[in-house]
Amino acid sequence: MENSEYGFIPYGKQYVDECDKKAVLEVLESDYLTTGPKVQEFEEALANRLGFKYVVVVSNGTTALHLASRVLLNVGDRAVTTPNSFLSTSNSILYVGAKPIFVDIENNGLINLDLVEEKLKKNKKIKAVYLVTFSGHPLDDEKVKYLKDKYGVKILYDNAHYFGKDGGVCDIATYSFHPVKHITTFEGGAVATNNEKIYKKLLRLRNHGIVKDSSMYPWEYKMVDLGYNYRLSDVACAMGLIQLEKVDMFLSKRRQIAKYYHDNLPEKIKPLYPYNEKSSYHLFVVRYPFKSFDEKAEFFIKMRQKGIGLQYHYIPINQQPFYVKKGYFKKFPQMEKYYLEAFSLPIYYSLSVKEQDYVIDCMEELL
Ligand SMILES: *Cc1c(COP(=O)(O)O)cnc(C)c1O
Repeated sequence: MENSEYGFIPYGKQYVDECDKKAVLEVLESDYLTTGPKVQEFEEALANRLGFKYVVVVSNGTTALHLASRVLLNVGDRAVTTPNSFLSTSNSILYVGAKPIFVDIENNGLINLDLVEEKLKKNKKIKAVYLVTFSGHPLDDEKVKYLKDKYGVKILYDNAHYFGKDGGVCDIATYSFHPVKHITTFEGGAVATNNEKIYKKLLRLRNHGIVKDSSMYPWEYKMVDLGYNYRLSDVACAMGLIQLEKVDMFLSKRRQIAKYYHDNLPEKIKPLYPYNEKSSYHLFVVRYPFKSFDEKAEFFIKMRQKGIGLQYHYIPINQQPFYVKKGYFKKFPQMEKYYLEAFSLPIYYSLSVKEQDYVIDCMEELL
């Protein structure tokens, strides 16, 4: 498969240097491997960087969403969400006995907020809207705030792709530190909020629903909620702290790569949206008018033979076998068109201009 002089070029990967390794080794030699001082340090650094009052780090982005859903939803509630996301976004709604309602996307891959409003007008069971800052593109905060205020719904931002300052609109935002995301703690994630009550509940749920209370006996602890072990280790948090120091460097490189694609892609391959310096560019998605999925697959295979790992984000969640079985299958016109046309190009910190040129040349040749 590795037929290029560049080895294999994936769509995304982590960047780990000597400082990360040193930070991890230091924790290995300390007294705490699981919950130690690095956890809170990392949480405070994240809160500061992301513009939230409170951050709770957890074992991954999916458990972050699960905890958020435990806070925002009850059994039987409905939550509007997008088909264009990783499975965890809507799975987390189902985890707590609530039901997702999918609506179509816009041209830029984000959920269509007008369609969200149509649903909110008609269905009083909708208690929350789960939005995804897809590819790293920020949402229209003003429009989201309008929906939140007018319909009294809770707002969740799944920010697995986004790493910018929060605009103060959402009730909860979730993050993932999986190696392909902006920073990594191996597996890892976070839940962020400005609400103290939500924060306290998240802390409890992360740790078995336990609150510390040794007022009666010194050994005492009290379980007051059905929680989980979704903690993130001190080792992971030490790595996260060092990764966080590099995040501005990571982001500016991603924007530079995105700009270069914009300036150098052949006419027939269209970026998903005009260059946007506010985007975190977790993904660089382009569109090409393939005539069939077979044609698209053939192109993917040929690119792979050239050592380039294209990806596609995402198969409409509501077309996954589990969702089909539950009756969620529906073809949304924009989502269908996007599914056929869109694909993600390599974008990550260590990607060189030469490698980008190679990717562009290969596409030019094959399309
Ligand atoms: C990666 C991702 C998740 C899940 O994160 P994990 O850390 O892999 O559990 C959820 N939502 C979106 C949009 C993602 O990209």
